[in-house]
Amino acid sequence: MARLGSWIEPFPEGIYVRPADAWIDPSQPKAKALVTHGHADHARGGHSEVWATPETLAIMGVRYGDQNGHPVAYGEQFRLGEVDISFVPAGHVLGSAQIVLEHAGERVVVSGDYKRRPDPTCAPFEPVPCDIFITEATFGLPVFRHPDTGSEIDRLLHRLHSDPSRCVLVGAYALGKAQRVITELRRRGHEQPIYYHGAVERLCNLYEELGVSLGEMRHTAGAKKEEMAGHIVIAPPSALNDRWSRRLPDPVTAMASGWMRIRQRARQSNIELPLIISDHADWDELTCTIRELAPREVWITHGREEALKHWCMIHQIKARELNLVGYEDEDE
Ligand SMILES: [Zn+2]
Ligand SMILES: [Zn+2]
Repeated sequence: MARLGSWIEPFPEGIYVRPADAWIDPSQPKAKALVTHGHADHARGGHSEVWATPETLAIMGVRYGDQNGHPVAYGEQFRLGEVDISFVPAGHVLGSAQIVLEHAGERVVVSGDYKRRPDPTCAPFEPVPCDIFITEATFGLPVFRHPDTGSEIDRLLHRLHSDPSRCVLVGAYALGKAQRVITELRRRGHEQPIYYHGAVERLCNLYEELGVSLGEMRHTAGAKKEEMAGHIVIAPPSALNDRWSRRLPDPVTAMASGWMRIRQRARQSNIELPLIISDHADWDELTCTIRELAPREVWITHGREEALKHWCMIHQIKARELNLVGYEDEDE
């Protein structure tokens, strides 16, 4: 009998599904690409044909221009070569999917990036029992336990209200995190306009078009300094310490990221208010998901693979590292 999953071949540039002659999240241009979600390290331009959710195709369209895309709705089944394929929600960002592959009586689930806690901007992760679970491990160390999102948002609002002469500048990745922070603020009753840096504008507009309402948003470019006092400003992390921020009224610099668990990392980036808000599974989410799915094997794509591999061994689940290259942690 062939080895479990012998039809799935990991290469440094992505996962090749031989009987479908297709690649998952390839970092090089390919003839056929199945794309889990719109973050730039998973969704690259230049493929001949792309299969992805309609939202992911729309995000790729904003970034790379129109794709020769085949939209795949969540739960819809299709066949490529000799493989039955479907996309189910991964709970990571709008449109993010796990890819379910069935061939030769085996079911393989490629998680892409995922998380288990609620996110008002996207559909929740759907557990699919499988023979092989191919998982990320961005926060695959026991030290990473993300706190409740609501309490982090409350800390942000508390800081904002404590000094109305200042603004709070929140660094958040432009795809997913920025819109999630905005939506979480709205859920906590924050109705004031939120200002944004130009780099998050297109994706905020796209989220709105795709049905995620963000409330009143204003561009910082058209705003006077005094006007922004007492307000929240959202910008990509790269803008936090650049010249652009001089136009803001005495900003308190915050950052929304799972990496803010590491105090040293916050200090190095001059972050005054670290907010631990992550779009990736923390240690408990990773291990609970593996327990729940009870796969025969776990394959780990990227992140801190060692500890998770060790955890699998202790729990008598065969695990291997795929050593894919090109996936970054910076979408967090
Ligand atoms: Zn991602
Ligand atoms: Zn990623």
